[in-house]
Amino acid sequence: MSDANMDTSAHVRKREQTEGRELSYPPLPEALTVGVYDNHTHLEIADGENPIDYREQLDRASAVGVRGVIQVGGDVPTSQWSAATAAVEPRMLAAVAIHPNEAPLYDTAGGPDGSWEGGLDAAIAEIDRLAGLPRVVAVGETGLDFFRTGEEGRAAQLRSFEAHIDIAKRHGLAMQIHDRDAHAAVIETLLRVGAPERTVFHCFSGDAEMAQLCADNGWYLSFAGTVTFKNAQNLRDALQVIPRSQILIETDAPFLTPTPYRGRPNAPYLLPLTLRAIAAELGTDASVLAAQITSNTELVYGRWDAEPVASAAHPAEVGAVAARSANTAFPASTEAIGGIA
Ligand SMILES: [Zn+2]
Repeated sequence: MSDANMDTSAHVRKREQTEGRELSYPPLPEALTVGVYDNHTHLEIADGENPIDYREQLDRASAVGVRGVIQVGGDVPTSQWSAATAAVEPRMLAAVAIHPNEAPLYDTAGGPDGSWEGGLDAAIAEIDRLAGLPRVVAVGETGLDFFRTGEEGRAAQLRSFEAHIDIAKRHGLAMQIHDRDAHAAVIETLLRVGAPERTVFHCFSGDAEMAQLCADNGWYLSFAGTVTFKNAQNLRDALQVIPRSQILIETDAPFLTPTPYRGRPNAPYLLPLTLRAIAAELGTDASVLAAQITSNTELVYGRWDAEPVASAAHPAEVGAVAARSANTAFPASTEAIGGIA
């Protein structure tokens, strides 16, 4: 594939559409007066009846006070896209990883689409290389998922998690953890091998007791739209326990759309809904909370303007940078995935 054919403004993946979902994007919420960052999103995934490309997503986000995002990869192509796009986009920093549900597929089945020939270790080696690129500020999402991966995949999942912890430590990067139905095993692993200095539980799903344990270890809890869900009292209890200096927020777009738009496509511009819900829960002013969370976010990842972008974000330039940095072709077609979040 030539550079001219490459365009990272195109989506790399497409969300699987389930029956009966409403596919329109929700309206923009009222703008925040103090800006925040979305520390976990997947702008490479197309969703909705009219998928929105990353630049329009970031424009909409800016319009409501969401100043920037951490764009998170979950396999080799999406991690390459994340690093390449962050390199030319001032409002984006990148996180790279093999997702815990993809690790067993790289181990035995050629990755999510069967096209990877190098096995899991070679995929992790590519993540290690990407972790050294400018504007890649985190390793993630990595961790353990006992909900979607069965017994047969757990050895590969654990091996991948430990390798990602090592990459984060060697590169001095933050780490974003995906923990689904695996709280005890994730914590045991972190304590056994030693967590990176800045460790974030993406889309925290534990309770107050776990939040206290994370607080004691200096780990950060990132709250997603799930905190607005009626049945998520455990998350609101956790909020009461974790020091405000250890709170981050995210959308995990296009998944986990906050109330009252649950089920519709999610986007970074909907982050103010989650911020306001957390502020209400804590009985504090949204602007005060936003200032605190922005300070936390910059402590974990650095500032979005700390490293220069490679060039103005023009599609041809993005393609050229992608080709230089990834040294592989991007997939020509957009592949459907389930829930990478
Ligand atoms: Zn995610």
